[in-house]
Amino acid sequence: MNPAHPTVLSGPLSPEEYQRQFTEFMRQHLQSAAGGVPRPQAAPPNAAEPTPPAETTFQFDRKPRDVKAYLDRFVIRQEEAKKVLSVALCDHYHHVRLALAGQDQPNYAKQNIILTGPTGVGKTYLIRCIADLIGVPFVKGDATKFSETGYVGGDVEDLVRELLRRANGDVQRAQYGIIYIDEIDKIAAAANVVGRDVSGRGVQTTLLKLMEESEVPARSPNDIAGQLQAMLEFTQRGRKPAEVVNTKHILFIVSGAFNGLDKIVRRRLREATIGFAAKSTSPDTESDVLDHAQTRDFIEYGFEPEFIGRLPVRVCCHPLDIDDLFTILRNSEGSIIRQYEQTFAAYGIEVLFRDDGLRRIAELAHDEQTGARGLMTVCERLFRDFKFELPSTPVQRFVVTHELVDRPAASLQTLLAQHASEERVVMRQLVHHFAERFFHDHNLRLHFTEPAADALVQLAQERRQPVRDLCAQHFKDFQFGLKLIAQNTGRTEFQIEADTVAAPDKTLSDWVVASYRNRTPEPPGPAPAPAPPSPSPLP
Ligand code: ADP
Repeated sequence: MNPAHPTVLSGPLSPEEYQRQFTEFMRQHLQSAAGGVPRPQAAPPNAAEPTPPAETTFQFDRKPRDVKAYLDRFVIRQEEAKKVLSVALCDHYHHVRLALAGQDQPNYAKQNIILTGPTGVGKTYLIRCIADLIGVPFVKGDATKFSETGYVGGDVEDLVRELLRRANGDVQRAQYGIIYIDEIDKIAAAANVVGRDVSGRGVQTTLLKLMEESEVPARSPNDIAGQLQAMLEFTQRGRKPAEVVNTKHILFIVSGAFNGLDKIVRRRLREATIGFAAKSTSPDTESDVLDHAQTRDFIEYGFEPEFIGRLPVRVCCHPLDIDDLFTILRNSEGSIIRQYEQTFAAYGIEVLFRDDGLRRIAELAHDEQTGARGLMTVCERLFRDFKFELPSTPVQRFVVTHELVDRPAASLQTLLAQHASEERVVMRQLVHHFAERFFHDHNLRLHFTEPAADALVQLAQERRQPVRDLCAQHFKDFQFGLKLIAQNTGRTEFQIEADTVAAPDKTLSDWVVASYRNRTPEPPGPAPAPAPPSPSPLP
C-alpha cells in the first residue's frame, strides 16, 4: 500500500487516522456505488479522471529579451532581477526542451534560483508571470510549514503533488513545472540555535534531494483513501494506479527577506578591504548589500553548502519607493486599480482614477511598509464603503481624487447627497409633469407649490414608489371633485399646497362643500394662482 521509494518521507499514521481515512473511503465509495453523489476527490485529480495523453514535445523558443519585455508589462522596477531571471528561465527551458527530445546534456547544472528581498516587491509576481508566459505549472509553498518527519499537511513532497494537480494530472507537464518556496531563510540553521538547527538542516536535506532528482509518488503514502481508490480503479478498469513525478527538471526557486544577511556580507566586504587603501566601494542600503551576497555568506547564515550549491542563480529584488508604487498603480498591466474598475463596472459604475488620487494611495501604501501589498490594504480600506453603498444607488460614476483618498467617508456622503439632490430635482419635475398630464386629460390645471412638490417627493422616496404613480394614486378623485367645483364656480385652476398633499381627500371634500355653498366664483384655493411651472422636458 505504501509504495516504497528511497526519498519518501512519511511519518507513521496513527491508528485513529488510518481508521478515519478508511471509513471515509468506504463511505464515499459505497455512496457512489449506490448512486449517491460522490464527494469531491481527496486524491489528486488524475486519480478519478482519465490521464490526458502525455505531450511528446515541449515547445519553447523564447529569448531572454522577449521574456524581459513581457515582464516589463507587469513588473515595475527590479530591472536586474528581470534580466537575470529571463536568462535563467530561458536556459532552463531550452535544456528541458532538449532533454525531452532525448538530447539531455549530462553535465548541465539546473538553474535553481535564490531570490532575496523584502516582502511585497514582486518576487513571487515575477515568477508567476514567467510561468504564465511559458505555460508551465507553478506552485508556491512556505518553508515555515515544512515538517521534516511528521506529516502535518505541510510536507515538502506535497508541493510536487500540488504541482501535478495544477498540471491537471499531466505527469509530464508537472515534471517541468516551477516550485517556489518562500521564507527559505527561516530554515537556515544558525550555528548557535540548537533547537532550530536540527529541523532546519533536515528540511534542507529533504529539499536538496528534490532539487537534485527524486521520484515522488503521485499519491501521498498517507492518503489511504487515494491509495484504495487507485487499487479499485486498477482492479475495475485495469488503469495503472501508481505514478511518480520525477523532479529532475522541476525548477526550484527559493526566496526570503534574509534579515541579517546584509551584516554578514558587509563584514566580509569590510574585511576584504583591510590592509588595502580603503576604496569607498561599500554599498549603502541593505538591498544593495544583498546584491553582493556570495555562497559563503549564505553558508555562514546557516545553509548547508550542498543546499546552497544547488541554487546557483542569485537574484536580489529591491524595495519600492512611492514613485514605484504610483507607477505600479498607473502602468502595470496587473495593477489593482483595474480590478476595482471591473468590480464597479459590474454594477454599471464607472470609476476614474486621477493621478493625484493614485499618488495619495501610493503614499499611504508606502507607510504600510509591505511593498506593493500595501496598495491592496489601502485600496481595500478606501473602497470598502463605496463597494457597499454605491451599487444600491443610481450613482453611475465617480472620480478618485486626492481628497477622496484622504476623506473617503466624507466623499462618499457628498457623492450620495449630491446624487440625492439631483434625484430630487428630477422627481420634482415629475410632479409638475403629472400636473401637465392632468391638464391635458381633464382640462383642469393643478399648480403644485414647491413645498407641496417636496412633500410628494419625500413621500415617494419613503414609499419607494415612482412619483407619477404616487401622484395618480394621491389625487385619484380630484378629476371628479374639481369638475364639480368648476361647474359650481367656473374655476379651472387650483393651487396644491403641502397640507393638501398631507390630506388630499379631506381638502377636496372641503373644497367641494364650499363650492356648493358659494355658487359664486369663490376660489377653493388661494388666489391668484401663481404662473404655472414650465412644462417638464420629460415625456
Ligand atoms: P513578494 O515579493 O513578497 O513575493 P509579491 O510578488 O507576491 O511579493 O507581490 C504582491 C503583489 O504586489 C503582486 O501580486 C503584485 O500585484 C504587486 N507587486 C509587487 N511588486 C510589484 C512590482 N515590482 N511591480 C508590479 N506589481 C508588483
